[in-house]
Amino acid sequence: MDFNFYLPKVNLLFGKGVSVKISEEIKKLGDQPARQGINGRALLVTGKTSMEQSGFTQKITSHLKNHLIEVTLFNKITPNPTSELVDEGAKVALKNNCNIIIGLGGGSAMDAAKAIAIVAGHSKDQFQPIWDFSQSQAAPKAITSQTLPIIAITSSSGTGSHVTRFSVITNPNLNHKVGIYSEYIFPKLSVVDLEILTYMPPALTAESGVDVLTHCLEGLVSKSCNPITEEMALQGIELVFNYLTDAFRNGENLKSREGMALADTYAGFVITTSRVILPHAMSHPISAFYPNISHGAALAALTPHIMQFNIEKGDNTTLQKYCLASGAMGRRTFGANKYEAMKSVEAVKELLEKIGMNKGLQELGVDPADIGDMVKNAIETGQGPINSNPAEVKESDIARIYKLAMGKDRR
Ligand code: NDP
Ligand code: MN
Repeated sequence: MDFNFYLPKVNLLFGKGVSVKISEEIKKLGDQPARQGINGRALLVTGKTSMEQSGFTQKITSHLKNHLIEVTLFNKITPNPTSELVDEGAKVALKNNCNIIIGLGGGSAMDAAKAIAIVAGHSKDQFQPIWDFSQSQAAPKAITSQTLPIIAITSSSGTGSHVTRFSVITNPNLNHKVGIYSEYIFPKLSVVDLEILTYMPPALTAESGVDVLTHCLEGLVSKSCNPITEEMALQGIELVFNYLTDAFRNGENLKSREGMALADTYAGFVITTSRVILPHAMSHPISAFYPNISHGAALAALTPHIMQFNIEKGDNTTLQKYCLASGAMGRRTFGANKYEAMKSVEAVKELLEKIGMNKGLQELGVDPADIGDMVKNAIETGQGPINSNPAEVKESDIARIYKLAMGKDRR
């Protein structure tokens, strides 16, 4: 068996209340000279309301100030963050001479923080907008070690962005939502504070939980999967099936939040080492055309259909992996065949129903007339994930799966 397992250095703080311990780690970063009594100048990147309402923006700001770290707040990040917002944030970082970027929030705030760190780090002489670095460009600018150090404090259990080298940014002029990736945006410190996670409302718990599940399911069957990633993916799937429904129903139960936060972290490692496949390639056009449809909702509508497609068209190894997934979902399996593999699809549909995520694309607001454009967009922006899909994918397959995913009743 030949494989390469590459995971950049990880530094993870996990537990209750740990977000107010970050200054110690910031001081250790090394590239923050303690000049004039200052340990660093941070840009704190967060969304418009949730972190302020829950008190964490204030808590973290005073913790940093108490440790002589200056803080500039950039609290404008919206879900599916845009390239324009990233450039605006980078200008604020440059104006305030920030030398560290902290993302506090869900995937959107953490991804925006990573992208801001790229732009601010590379714009010392001349401003370099984020889209110039997007790998969807014919000749993207290189992302280098000039990128400012990033700290990612996650407030959701979904994207794994606190431990990934991806930043997903939308260019609203092109309707392109793409993953910008580089090992330089791998956070220097990843923080999972269970207290922050208990503030997630049920809908976000469900949407982000679906993201965790699909990262593990996609990484498991991806062509780039390896035995180490496979174990993490199966562990993540088992945790989701054990804890997501309870986290959705009893948001204050720390045990369930902890289970989902662990699953989210495994899932982040999974997509870093093995990458996502067709559901992610097809979900990004949906959020690009319909920014109000969450990433998780788009994935939920697509995933059972794509699992079935892969079970029908995939090779023996793929079939075996879906059987392992059935087992991790608590289904008893006897041998490895299509029937046993399909148990994983049934289990996913049941879970989606329990957490109110069994909605088709049309119910979510997608106009079937847009399918043609979404197919083109998926092919334009999703080549990497499409190529990693275990079964070969034709343009007509993408169109057919979008059509199937339109309907509500998939049972
Ligand atoms: P978002 O970060 O988009 O947050 C969604 C909403 O939830 C926001 O309105 C936010 O409010 C609110 N919110 C977040 N945390 C809490 C909390 N603890 N309590 C109450 N409200 C909260 O959601 P996701 O985490 O699902 O991130 C999705 C984004 O991440 C997508 O753009 C997706 O493509 C991307 N992604 C990135 C990956 C990566 O590796 N980088 C991988 C997969 C997806 P407010 O704005 O007020 O803070
Ligand atoms: Mn995702």
